[in-house]
Parts: sequence; C-alpha cells; structure tokens
Amino acid sequence: MPGEAEKLNLLGLPQSELEQYFAGLGEKPYRARQLMQWMYQRGVTDFDAMTDFSKSVREQLAATAKIEFARVDSQHDSTDGTVKWLFASGSGQRVEAVFIPESGRGTLCISSQVGCALDCAFCATGAQGFNRNLTAAEIIGQVWHANEVLPRRENDETAVTNVVFMGMGEPLANYRNVVPVLELLISDYAYGLSRRRVTVSTSGIVPHIEKLGGDCNVSLAVSLHASNDELRNQLVPINKLHPIDELLDACWRYAERHANRFITFEYVMLRDVNDSTQHADELANLLDGKPAKVNLIPFNPFPDTQFARSAVDTIRHFQNHLRNRGIVATTRRTRGDDIDAACGQLAGKVSDRVRSRLSEKNIKVATA
Ligand code: SAH
Ligand code: SF4
Repeated sequence: MPGEAEKLNLLGLPQSELEQYFAGLGEKPYRARQLMQWMYQRGVTDFDAMTDFSKSVREQLAATAKIEFARVDSQHDSTDGTVKWLFASGSGQRVEAVFIPESGRGTLCISSQVGCALDCAFCATGAQGFNRNLTAAEIIGQVWHANEVLPRRENDETAVTNVVFMGMGEPLANYRNVVPVLELLISDYAYGLSRRRVTVSTSGIVPHIEKLGGDCNVSLAVSLHASNDELRNQLVPINKLHPIDELLDACWRYAERHANRFITFEYVMLRDVNDSTQHADELANLLDGKPAKVNLIPFNPFPDTQFARSAVDTIRHFQNHLRNRGIVATTRRTRGDDIDAACGQLAGKVSDRVRSRLSEKNIKVATA
C-alpha cells in the first residue's frame, strides 16, 4: 500500500485524468463526475462520506488517493468586508488569495505562482522575484477554501461567484497548471461558473494568449499600463519580447473567437509617468473601434517603490478623456487597503527566489 506521500492527489486533476484513475480501479467514467461533485460542489473530502461509492471503491480510494490542500496560515478581515488568506506553500513561502464581496457577486482573486519573474516596475510581487509555479491543486484549493469558510449566499449559491487570476504571479507563465483549473471552474461537475465570470489577467505572454483562445476561452484582461512601446518597455518588461502591436493583434483575435466578448485593458495610474492627456489620447488611438474596455487602477503603493498614485482629479480627467473618445472606461475601487489586499500589494512571502531579474532567457523558461 502506498504511503501518504505517494498517494495520488485528486484535487485539481482534470476530468480526463480522474476518469483514467477510476478506469485503473475497474470503474466507469461517470465515477469521476461523481467524485468532482463531492469535492467541489459539496466540499466533501472524506472518501468514507461519499455514499454513492460502494464500500470497496471507498476503500480503494482511501488506499491509493488523497484530497490534499495547501495549509492556510492566516486569515485577515478588512473593515470593508474584504478577506485575505495566506496559504503556506512550502519552505516558508506564502501566497495570497483575496475575497471581495460586492452586491450581487463575490469575487475571489487568486494566485498562480510563488512570486513572479516578469519584474513589472510597479508591482510588489514582481519586486520579490520568482520561486515556483503553483500546482493545479494549490490554485483550485484557494477557491475550495474560500467556499468552505465563507457563508453561502442567500439563494444557497456558494460564496465565490467570480474568479479572477489577479493575485500573485503571471497565470499564462504557468499555463500547464492554470488550464486544468479553468476547466474545473467552468465544469458543470465542479464549480459551474460561466466563462464570463472567470478572468485570466496577463501582462502579455502572446503565444499563450493565442493558445488559451483555443483551449479555454474565458474572459481576458490584459495589463497594458502604457500607451507606447518606449514607456511599456520600462513598466512591463515583457513588452521587449512582445510589443504592443503584437499583443493587441493577439487580443483582437482572441475577442473574435467569442461573439460580444470585450477584452479588458488594465491601466495602473502612476503619477507623472503614464497619466497625461496625451497618454489618454495615445491609448484611445490604440483601442479605437475595438472590442475593448479600459479599467484604470489607482496605483497601490508598497515599501521602497519609486512610484506614486495619480491624483483623484487626474484619474477622473483621464477616464473622461477616454470616454469622450468613445472608449468604455471605468476606475477600479480600491478594496482591502487596511489589510494590504489591494492589487499589486500581494507580496506573500518569497523567501527563496530562483530568479529575480527578467531576461529574455528566463521569460522563455518561465513560459515553457
Ligand atoms: N500577472 C498578471 C496578474 C496579476 S497582477 C498581470 O500582470 O496581469 C493583477 C493586476 O494588478 C495587473 O493588472 C497588475 O499590473 C496590477 N498591479 C500590479 N501592481 C500594482 C500596484 N502596485 N498597484 C495597482 N495595480 C497593480
Ligand atoms: Fe508579474 Fe503581473 Fe506583477 Fe507583472 S504585474 S510582475 S506580470 S504579477
């Protein structure tokens, strides 16, 4: 009999792999769907409680498999209702997930990597460097945990109605583990969320944007943050590998695959860096007539940053300028300020970075 360490962790496995596992036990494929419903819809992880499996199947499950989660280190509750969890991810590392309740929905912002190699100039995660990719179990485990500890909604729906990959890490640099998670989020046998309610945010790993369009067409948010290549090269260094033109072409192709689907462009408002009327005009030129929405994010400061947040009036003016040019533009409300849970402040703890500076070589490694 395998020891605990050798048992197969069923959490985060794609349906096809669960089916193979059950085939190995001599069981039919529908067993995989039953197991997914127990784990993700009912939150049950004890094989003994899975009453529609025969006693012998339950025993075989217990002998060969496990449902294992990352340990939650701490929970922090903001006065505005935002909740942040720190998950232990081995050798002193931490990653974070943040739940943002709003009227009519509950959004969970999840992490995909311990740190990030892409080194964007204004990002606390980037400043820490990269340690490793999270496994699919560690990523979906964040959703599982939030639904487990938060009260259900009035209509008995689970607390998490929307999931955004806007925590730590670059999800498209961990493509192999992120896609199975996306599939579970939209699967009727797991979380059953509509594709509209699942958003991948990327700094622009173009080949994987193309691939995602074919594999799992969820909503896409792109961290643009600059209106020309010169500035974007400084703020979002992956731009040197995939410049704005190339990135936008991939975005429009992604949008074309989905009728009525808009791409959201995130734009962090950095005082005197990217927030002038001229920048707004340049941005409008890039997006004019395209299926695009702009989401302005007031910069969230963190220790030792060289940047400051644009003034409220500057942000309002920038937004109005875009709107006058016919571009849909909103400004993100900052939530969870008092618990350092706002965008870009998620630093978790990366104690053992393996790469801290971005180079073409390590972007290729990171995206492989
Ligand atoms: N790596 C992905 C997703 C994680 S970051 C990406 O870059 O898109 C989620 C969003 O927060 C991105 O738009 C990112 O650029 C933005 N962000 C990073 N640091 C920030 C900060 N200090 N203040 C405001 N937004 C920030
Ligand atoms: Fe990585 Fe996104 Fe932060 Fe850039 S903004 S360093 S891609 S987490």
